[in-house]
Amino acid sequence: MNKENENTSHVILYPNEMLRSQCVDVSKEEFGSDEFGKFLDYMGHIVVSHRAVGLAAPQVGVNKNILVFAGQIFSNEENKIFALANPKIIVKSDKLISSNEGCLSFPGITVKRRRHESVTVNFSDTDGAERTQQFSGFAGIVIQHEIDHLNGKLHVDGLSKEKKKQVTRKFKKLIKETYPA
Ligand SMILES: [Zn+2]
Repeated sequence: MNKENENTSHVILYPNEMLRSQCVDVSKEEFGSDEFGKFLDYMGHIVVSHRAVGLAAPQVGVNKNILVFAGQIFSNEENKIFALANPKIIVKSDKLISSNEGCLSFPGITVKRRRHESVTVNFSDTDGAERTQQFSGFAGIVIQHEIDHLNGKLHVDGLSKEKKKQVTRKFKKLIKETYPA
């Protein structure tokens, strides 16, 4: 098993039904527990090892409202990982921006999507303290993409029916080539 396969094996790939689950909030009791801390470390490790920008818990088979981001998305702290729980978007800008989005559950595929230029999000930090923060530009795009995962939504869902078919067909072909049966 090469390194690439070893890394990818941790992440659930499309079209696994787990990616369609509606996640539940992290409870007060869970914050600060060993298990919660270990899970955040695990997600952080996956983000770093894939040089990814973000990861949502259902992508590793856990249907909880937990997101982990590479630190450089939100600040200049390259080696830091940011984790947050129970995010809710409370304000969306009218202005939209387009970009090409990748996803660890769709390796090798990017999808052009429109997103709100900025969003304001309520969330709990890793200690369970509630916070509100605005995310704009690239950080805003990443957080909207990851919050979608918590609601069972994927970047391809924002495409036209025809385009979605085209992209998912391309992805299935790619996976067949990468992991021959
Ligand atoms: Zn994704």
